[in-house]
Amino acid sequence: MEKKNYRDFDNYLKEYPDNKGYFGEYGGSYLPPELIPAFKEITDAYETICHSAQFINELRRIRREFQGRPTPVYHCERLSNKLGKCQIYLKREDLNHTGAHKLNHCMGEGLLAKYLGKKKLIAETGAGQHGVALATAAAYFGLECDIYMGEIDIAKQAPNVTRMRMLGARVIPVTHGLKTLKEAVDAAFEGYMREYKDSIYCIGSAVGPHPFPKMVRDFQMVVGIEAREQFLEMTGILPDAVCACVGGGSNAMGVFPAFLSDPVEIYGVEPLGKGSDVGDNAASLTFGSKGILHGFESIMLRDEAGEPLPVYSIASGLDYPSVGPEHAYLFSTGRVNYEAVTDEEAVRAFFALCRYEGIIPALESSHAVAFAMKLAQKMGTGSILVNLSGRGDKDIDYVFEKYGYGDDFQL
Ligand SMILES: *Cc1c(COP(=O)(O)O)cnc(C)c1O
Repeated sequence: MEKKNYRDFDNYLKEYPDNKGYFGEYGGSYLPPELIPAFKEITDAYETICHSAQFINELRRIRREFQGRPTPVYHCERLSNKLGKCQIYLKREDLNHTGAHKLNHCMGEGLLAKYLGKKKLIAETGAGQHGVALATAAAYFGLECDIYMGEIDIAKQAPNVTRMRMLGARVIPVTHGLKTLKEAVDAAFEGYMREYKDSIYCIGSAVGPHPFPKMVRDFQMVVGIEAREQFLEMTGILPDAVCACVGGGSNAMGVFPAFLSDPVEIYGVEPLGKGSDVGDNAASLTFGSKGILHGFESIMLRDEAGEPLPVYSIASGLDYPSVGPEHAYLFSTGRVNYEAVTDEEAVRAFFALCRYEGIIPALESSHAVAFAMKLAQKMGTGSILVNLSGRGDKDIDYVFEKYGYGDDFQL
C-alpha cells in the first residue's frame, strides 16, 4: 500500500471504518449465525444513539461528575531534565476513576445498555481490569453484571475478583482448556448468545467484531481531544510526538485520532517481553501476519494453521495475540509507527516515574513511558506527549517480588 502522511487524514474519522466495519482490509465481523442479529441490534442502536444530543450530554455529565474528567496533562520536568532537553508530558488517565482509561468505554457501553433497556452487562476478563471497570459501570447504572474469568486467572488476580464482587458483579469461573483469557472470551460469547435479548456484551478493548472497534474508539477519543487542547493551552504549540502502549489498542485509539491530521509523529508501543522468540512477547504488529481471531480480521501472532500463538508480557493487560483492526490499518498506511519495548525497559521506566515524578504507573503504561524516554534522548529537543493509561497500584506486589524497591534501577 502507498504510504500516507498527516495530510491524508483530514476526513479520516468520517471514512473509517466503512459501514461494514472495515478499516481498509482489516476489521469486519466474523460471527456464528446465531450472533448476527444480536450484533446488528448493537450496531443499529449505536449508530442512532451516537448522534443523539441527549445521549452525548448524559455521557458528558457522567465523565465530569463520576469519572473526574477532564484528567490533567502533566509536565514531567524532573524526568525530562534528567534525560536531556526534550520535554515529556503525560496525559493522566491514571487519575480517571478506577485508575485507568478502561472506564471511558465501559461507561459508554453501560449507557448504551440503559438506552436499549437491557438488564445485564456481560464480558470476559483476563487480569480483571476490564471486569472491575465494567462492574463499576454496572453498579452505576443499576444493571446486573456477569464476568467470565478463567479459573487460573481467578486464582492469580484475587484482589480484582474481590473488587468485582464487592461492586455486585457475578464472577463466573471458566474451567475448560487452559482456563485463561481465550476460554473466557468463548464462554462470554456463549453466555451472551443465551441471553442477548436482556443483555449486552461489552468488549474490553478496541477489538472484536464490528461495531466494537469503532464504538470503543469513539468512547475513548475524549482522551485525545482533551489532551490536544490542554497541551496547546500549556505550551502554545502541538507536541512533536505522541505515544501510547498497545495491547488491544483502546487507550492508543483514545489519543491517536486527535493528532492524525496534525504534523505530529505518532507511536504505538507493543510489549517485546523477554525477546523476539515465539511465546516471549506479544508484539502482534511487529511479528504478526494477517488472520482472523475473535470475530475480526487483523494482524496477529499465528501459526501456519492460523491458530493464535502463545504470548507473554510482564504487563498482563498487553498480552493479547492480536491487535485492534484500526491499528493494523494505521500500521499499513505508515501514518503510525509501531515500536516494541522489553519487560526490562518497562520496569526501568516504572521506577523512573516513581523516583523522578512521584507517580507509580501501570506496567502497561510503563511501556509507553520507556519508549518516550528513549525517543526523548534521540530527539534531543522538542516535546513528547505520553498517554499514561493507568496507575500501578495493582502491580506493586509483583514488581517488588521480582525487583525489590528498584534501587538497582537508578537512571
Ligand atoms: C488494559 C490496559 C491496557 C491495554 O489495553 P488497550 O486496549 O491496549 O489500551 C493498557 N493500560 C492499562 C492501564 C490497562 O489496564
